[in-house]
Amino acid sequence: MIYPKIILKKGKEEPLLRFHPWIFSGAIFRIEGTVHEGDIVEVHSANNELMAVGHYQIGSIAVRILSFSNIAIDDNFWMNTIQQAYTLRKTLHLAENELFTTYRLIHGEGDHLPGLIVDIYGETAVIQAHSVGMHHSRVVIANSLINIVKGLKNVYYKSEVTLPFKANLAAEDGYLIGNAEKGIVKESGLLFLVDWIHGQKTGFFVDQRENRKLLQYYANGRTMLNLFGYTGGFSIYGLQGGAALVHSVDSSARAIEVTNENVALNFPNDTRHQAFAEDAFKFLNQSNTTYDLIILDPPAFAKHKNVLHNALQGYRKLNAQAFEKIAPNGILFTFSCSQIVSKEQFRLAVFTAAAQSGRRIRILHQLSQPADHPINIYHVEGEYLKGLVLYVE
Ligand code: SAH
Repeated sequence: MIYPKIILKKGKEEPLLRFHPWIFSGAIFRIEGTVHEGDIVEVHSANNELMAVGHYQIGSIAVRILSFSNIAIDDNFWMNTIQQAYTLRKTLHLAENELFTTYRLIHGEGDHLPGLIVDIYGETAVIQAHSVGMHHSRVVIANSLINIVKGLKNVYYKSEVTLPFKANLAAEDGYLIGNAEKGIVKESGLLFLVDWIHGQKTGFFVDQRENRKLLQYYANGRTMLNLFGYTGGFSIYGLQGGAALVHSVDSSARAIEVTNENVALNFPNDTRHQAFAEDAFKFLNQSNTTYDLIILDPPAFAKHKNVLHNALQGYRKLNAQAFEKIAPNGILFTFSCSQIVSKEQFRLAVFTAAAQSGRRIRILHQLSQPADHPINIYHVEGEYLKGLVLYVE
């Protein structure tokens, strides 16, 4: 191979033997050759054995592994790896399925491509790079996507806010291929307007697909409150499931506008739904209505370990407020998407809130992320979405 070499300190190859996809900067003994941020490097053990090939980056995670074999990271590599991801989405009945025109095609480490997210919205793919190496590779990635994904016409690059700030890349969001303003996609046959340019993250929270479907199952005849609703994903499934009334709340006025558009797209002239552009905590405080079904899907309360304690307090308080608004024999769907909050910690926060409510509460389901957000078995950090469905007597 021709790539610069990263030589590890003695014993530091251990995680690589267990296929962990990151090398931390402290594990590096020496670098041979000139390396720039984002370059492909070879990783060698102290005994000079080639262990892996990956993207180099300045920071705590110094190398993100692309392959544990001695291979070139060329056009073929991108085609093969993205093809494998696509094949999996076909196996999952997502790709090339008329009822699901939106899904996640590349989920970072879960698809052996650390630092890369690709979501599909009908004829448009949205690429989100989290590493400098992926930023440098964006054109070959876009070309591979067009070659592989059936019916794909546009590739939008949206990485301004996800790339490391210190790398000074001056990256701009924009189309790498084609052009399309926004689009209507299908999920479980339901219609959703997705605005990838102005919307949050890549445009839509495809990770809640299966949890929304479960909610639909419980919605019939119930009054429902969807807090942190974004563009109304859970609300639309609730209406489809026969909810008697649905209130959607989000602090973003734009998200609430799109929620109303989504309701109109699927259920024109339906009077069961009402949307509120308001703070969720304030809404709970001021409302004196109770609901049979409540959804809590807040943004990540903790992005760094040092605010973990506050985040757990946040989950406890929010859930405690929700328990006060649940009618007898009501159901609560409660989530955390903070990667650094573990399943056990989240459960403890909800448990504490439950005890405070003094009500009899049972766990009906324990939820996670769907299979198009796969978790690399050697990289448990990839499990980020946690949810509980509770029966509140
Ligand atoms: N459940 C949604 C995704 C929620 S993402 C879905 O299925 O698509 C989290 C949402 O919380 C975002 O839309 C964000 O605008 C909103 N948000 C953040 N802080 C909020 C607050 N204090 N009150 C209400 N909404 C808030």
